[in-house]
Amino acid sequence: MTQSRGKVYLIGAGPGDPGLITVKAKECIQAADVVVYDYLASPFLLNYAGKDAEIIYVGKKGGDHTLTQDKINLLLVDKAREGKNVARLKGGDPFVFGRGGEEAQELLSYGIRYEVIPGVTSAVAAPAYAGIPVTHRDHTSFVSFITGHERPDKKESRMQWDIFAKSDATLVFLMGVKNLSNIVTKLMEHGKPSDTPVALVRWGTTTRQQTVTGTLTTIVDAVKKAELKSPAIIVVGHVVSLRDELAWFDQTPLFGKKIVITRARAQASGLVAELNRLGAQCIEIPTIKIVPPENKKALEAAIDHLDLYDWLVLTSVNGVKFFFDTLFKKGKDVRALGHLKFACIGPVTKERLADYGIISDILPETYQAESVVDAFSSLDMTGKKILLPRAKKARSILPEQLTLMGAMVDEVTAYETRLADEGKDLLVDMLKAGDIDAVTFTSSSTVTNFLTLLEGQNAPALLEGVLLASIGPITSDTIRAKGLKPDIEADAFTIDGLIEALLKHYENALSGVLKK
Ligand code: SAH
Repeated sequence: MTQSRGKVYLIGAGPGDPGLITVKAKECIQAADVVVYDYLASPFLLNYAGKDAEIIYVGKKGGDHTLTQDKINLLLVDKAREGKNVARLKGGDPFVFGRGGEEAQELLSYGIRYEVIPGVTSAVAAPAYAGIPVTHRDHTSFVSFITGHERPDKKESRMQWDIFAKSDATLVFLMGVKNLSNIVTKLMEHGKPSDTPVALVRWGTTTRQQTVTGTLTTIVDAVKKAELKSPAIIVVGHVVSLRDELAWFDQTPLFGKKIVITRARAQASGLVAELNRLGAQCIEIPTIKIVPPENKKALEAAIDHLDLYDWLVLTSVNGVKFFFDTLFKKGKDVRALGHLKFACIGPVTKERLADYGIISDILPETYQAESVVDAFSSLDMTGKKILLPRAKKARSILPEQLTLMGAMVDEVTAYETRLADEGKDLLVDMLKAGDIDAVTFTSSSTVTNFLTLLEGQNAPALLEGVLLASIGPITSDTIRAKGLKPDIEADAFTIDGLIEALLKHYENALSGVLKK
């Protein structure tokens, strides 16, 4: 129940890596009626919002505001007055150059209650992910956070350049990229040695992180050459030299690799999270949508007559989900399945089944229909009735082989897969710009649908130099049938196997470069 008057939570959303959110912030997003966010807050965090929460985007990069600060303030006030609890996500920490203080004052002036949830500031976290500790006993005794972009209407500058220049402090400038040449000039004019190390860290803590280093004399050219833009942190001081030794994030095995994920969004999160953890940047272009079947009658009829069956064979997590959804909708529960034996095609399907409290009787050695058939071959299946709820238009080998063993198989459609094409333009643009390193294919339909998205384009030319990663031999055959070549194939036909194959590929490529 919402209170008669709402409350605004000014939340530090952290610097970018969604893992750097605090527990309190996450709980607050989960409970909010309205979530207000801007471009520095990781959109991933919106996944924590409740399904009925209103999500409002209020800001773009430097100057190009979708809503002005005044309008943002009024929005917060209005929503709170409607009695809603508002989670206002702000990049990094709300009170470090985030205008969080101003928002709090504004709320106060309208009598709106608020709380502040501090966050991990980019001023510390971006350097940390670049291997730069902002303090270190051998190098500096203090650290300053400085705006690189004073309010344009300020009459007199508050910048104490002589103090910045004379101290051994680590200077961390935020919002300073456009002003970089002015900053370095001022520091040198006030006596800072021209060989003082400087680093810029863009999109720190995210998989897009980019770092450029130099000295006060060289950094402007280096940044120009690297075409590094905002948002970035500028670090000036001797601690920057520690990066040579301490850079760790850049050395994660897939750092900087841009990898396209083609599986359905609802199923992609595990793969995306693991690839992100390894440093890769995932571009989600779902090629498949999973929807309930148009005709549910067969599945419903089977569920009405579960007592007729001996076995339930599940070939995917979607099959598990849609089977149980329908079971529960019919007012039944797992007790209706007590007499059945179960077979699953792979470990993930088996785990999902276990979530419902059921242990699979059969788990094949490898995760393909052929292996399920092998697993059944030691059993006497004569006269056994098997229920096989799965995708419309699935491969026919499983029912055919089970029938040959004397079983009676009822194949019912539990869900349908459709082409998803929302990501088409992004995909084509990125491929044309040479901005993609690899594409992952987790089933034959991801291959077929992916190539449908490229219809009208010269697909082989666009995919030149792009690593095509396949989850297993059947998916690889589909890639070949389309006139392309799978560059790598997972050993285990699983997502973990696919990640393993990507890692192996890039590690080999790296050691090849190092040997040269
Ligand atoms: N409250 C934020 C800072 C907001 S001011 C915080 O505590 O981090 C906006 C500036 O923050 C940007 O211009 C940039 O200098 C810095 N910034 C924010 N996120 C960043 C990131 N992931 N990498 C590098 N700089 C970042």
